[in-house]
Parts: sequence; C-alpha cells; structure tokens
Amino acid sequence: MQTLKKIAVVGSGLVGSLLAIYLRKAGHTVHIYDRSPDIRQIQFSGRSINLAMSNRGWKALDGVGIGDAVREIAIPMDKRAIHLVDKLNFQNYGQEGESIYSISRGILNRKMIDLAEEAGAEFFFEQKIWDVTLADATLHIGETERGAWEDKKYDMVFGADGAFSRIRHRMQRQSMFNYSQEFLNIGYKELNIPANPDGSHKLDKNSFHIWPRGEYMLIALPNLDGSFTCTLFMPFEGENSFDLLRERKDVVSFFETNFPDSIEVIPELAEDFFKNPTSTLVTMKCFPWTYGDKVALIGDACHAIVPFYGQGMNAGFEDISILYEMMEKYGEDWEMVFSEYEKSRKPNADAIAELSYRNFLEMSSKTADDKFLLQKKIEKVFSDRHPDKWIPLYSRVTFSDRPYSEALAIGDFQNEIMQKVLLTKDIEQIWDSKEVENKILELLG
Ligand SMILES: Cc1cc2nc3c(=O)[nH]c(=O)nc-3n(C[C@H](O)[C@H](O)[C@H](O)COP(=O)(O)OP(=O)(O)OC[C@H]3O[C@@H](n4cnc5c(N)ncnc54)[C@H](O)[C@@H]3O)c2cc1C
Repeated sequence: MQTLKKIAVVGSGLVGSLLAIYLRKAGHTVHIYDRSPDIRQIQFSGRSINLAMSNRGWKALDGVGIGDAVREIAIPMDKRAIHLVDKLNFQNYGQEGESIYSISRGILNRKMIDLAEEAGAEFFFEQKIWDVTLADATLHIGETERGAWEDKKYDMVFGADGAFSRIRHRMQRQSMFNYSQEFLNIGYKELNIPANPDGSHKLDKNSFHIWPRGEYMLIALPNLDGSFTCTLFMPFEGENSFDLLRERKDVVSFFETNFPDSIEVIPELAEDFFKNPTSTLVTMKCFPWTYGDKVALIGDACHAIVPFYGQGMNAGFEDISILYEMMEKYGEDWEMVFSEYEKSRKPNADAIAELSYRNFLEMSSKTADDKFLLQKKIEKVFSDRHPDKWIPLYSRVTFSDRPYSEALAIGDFQNEIMQKVLLTKDIEQIWDSKEVENKILELLG
C-alpha cells in the first residue's frame, strides 16, 4: 500500500485515461488535463482511425477489469486478406483462435474516459498545459503561451500528452536528456468503405485487408457500423506519390490501375481523398523518461513509433502494466518505481520502434512476394510441429507479452536460419518435408 498522492495526468488519450484507472485502483487522487474538448461531447461518426488491439493491450485492460467492456466494441481479425492486382490471398495471423482486434480510436477513447470517471478520476478539458516545473510537479495552465497562466501543484505529474509532449519539452531542456525525432518520407491518408444498405460489411469483416504494392500500400480495418476505414500509405514525392495525385482524374486512374477491386467499394474516393489531410509519421525516442520521484512520461510522449506493427497503443498500455508492477514491488519508493520502470521499458520501446520501421517493408512488399509467403508457410508448419522451438516473430510481438527486445533478437536469429533454408534445392516442392524440418532443427543447434 502506498501513501495516497495527488497526481496529475496530462493527456486524456488512450494511455492517459487507462493510467488514470490504474492510479485510482491504487487509491490516489487523479486529475486529468486535456487541451481538447471532451471527446464524448463532440459529434463524430465513430469511423475515423481504427487501431489493432493485441495481447499486450488486452493484458493491461484485463489488469483493471475493463477488458470485457472493451471487447464489446472490438471486431476480431484472424487473418490478413492480401489483395494482389489479380487475386485475393488469405494468411492466418497466428494459431487457431488467435486474432488481433479492430477498434475505433474515437469510440475506444470515449469509453476509456467514461470508465476512468467511473473509477473516480476527475477530468479537466480545454485546459492546455504549457509548462511544468519539474522539481515540484507544478503544472502551468493557460489559454495562450504568452498570456496569464494558472499554477497547479501536485505530488506527481505524468506526461501522457502524446508525440509532441509539452512535459517532455521541459525535460528536454535538462542536461543529459537525449532526444531524437525522425519523420518518414511516407505519409498517410484515410478513405472510407461504407456499409452495404443493410448494414453489412462489403469485404470480409474478420480480416485485416491489405493491398501491398511495394513502396506504397492500402489497408482497411472493419468498423462496427459495417464500414471500413482505409488508409493509403505512400511516399510524399517520387514515382508513386501523393505529389502526383493532384486532380480527381489522377486519383481515380491511380486506383483503377493499382487497386482495381477497391474502386467499387470506395464510392466517394476522390471526395475523401481531397477532403482528408495527408498526415505525417514520426519515430521519436528519448531518455530519461522520468525526473526524480516527481515527473514521468508514458505512451507516445516517450516513444512515438510508426504504425506498421500496430503496436503504438499496445506498447503504451504495456508501459502502464510495467509501471504498476513496479508500484507493487517498490511501494513508497517512487524514485525506485520510476527508475525501474524506465530501465525496463526503454530497450523494449527501442525494439518495437525498430520492428515497426522494418514492418513497412514486410506489409507493403513482402506479402506480395512468393519467397516470403513460402518462408511463412515453412515457419508455420515447423512451429505447428515444434511449438516449443519456434514461435514466429509476428506471434511473439502480437500474441505474447514477452519483451519486444527478445522478439527482435530471436526474430533476427530465426530469419538467418530461414534464409539458409530457402536456399535448399527444390525448396518450393519439399518445403514441408522431413528433410527441411531436420535442417531447421540442426540450424537451431
Ligand atoms: C495511422 C496510425 C495508425 C495506428 N494504428 C495503431 C494500431 O493499429 N495499434 C496500436 O496499438 N497503435 C496504433 N497507432 C498508435 C496509437 O494511435 C498511439 O500509440 C496512441 O494513440 C498513443 O496514445 P497516447 O495516449 O500516448 O497519446 P495521444 O493519443 O496522442 O494522446 C495525447 C493526448 O494529450 C493531449 N495533449 C497533448 N498536448 C497537451 C497539452 N499541452 N496540454 C493538455 N493536453 C495535451 C491531446 O489532446 C491528446 O488527447 C497508430 C497511429 C497512427 C498515426
């Protein structure tokens, strides 16, 4: 049991609101500030971005008993539906019964705020935090950067204020604070596949749909209302790029040529394309994540990653599981809680950043590559026969809660083995033979 503290959480996003529930579970007084209006009061269709929730996310939600409430608004996806230009392939994500789950970010965030309020957290919306005094956990709140600020002193402050965190901004001005930020030259744009008139889905609703085309790709995730949210990922400039799609006819002809089976399910393609913004993707790393026993960063505020492994929110939720583990272990000693939390999480945040960066290539190119699909088939057969010896990388990241850093290291080792196996003579014919199985066993040592 810890002495009860008065704690401020900056940011009522997914990570801030879940953190608030955990801190309430431990009995603390929790105030959450957000610069935006209350998302529950804003009219929205419930579509917008949807996220894939996997094992680490569910573990954190189940840890405070709210997993089932969230499962009600989630759609399981047990496979990838790979739309090649001339055919459709399916590839299971994991073992029988293993799925990732599509959830609308907006609907989830509304639910999480409701649940945090029920748990006793108090929300303050349209309150922008401009600065924090690290030494005594005082927030500085105001309408403008140069106007008058109100000061609110707490025992402790958590910065859950996302990739461009103001709390981190203050920490960046400390000596020995490391920070890097790298934008991808690939942007993204959302499009929409509406529901059929009877409310059913136009594509298989239990699949993560992907149109892999090398340096660009389209994906689609199902929504509860029968629609799909699509995201087009593409370079800003160059041969196949946003830069070249300037007029209606360019967009329509690009989709007709490259995503022919998407044309009839995206009726408002050109309207959506020009109405919706083209957004950027950033990887942000920093360290340390905490200041004494007063201030800690969590979620995107300390590790923003590109979305190609579907792990940003999951990693942020896992931060909370680990923080809570440290709270239980070190109790009153918050300096120790913070220091062990950041020590445990930093290598894993770096690993999932690397895996996410690499996964763009896997999604956009390799899922259309016969050698890669063969590799996945061999891995699947071997892993079915020797589940104790081979868990595929995707499963380690998505369906387990072993550290991301371990998944990265073992994944690299497995890939080396598979590259050797793929050189076997007539591998296309003998891929599920005893000979190949023995070769893998031998290479595993
Ligand atoms: C295209 C895309 C697809 C993604 N897909 C997935 C996926 O499939 N699976 C997955 O796990 N993750 C995914 N992610 C990542 C996921 O969206 C983020 O990791 C997650 O939303 C981070 O949550 P957060 O609460 O840390 O930050 P945020 O969601 O950014 O929330 C920060 C909150 O802080 C508030 N705030 C900011 N500054 C201030 C301030 N100065 N004062 C007061 N309030 C402030 C903001 O208003 C906001 O409410 C995706 C991301 C993108 C861009």
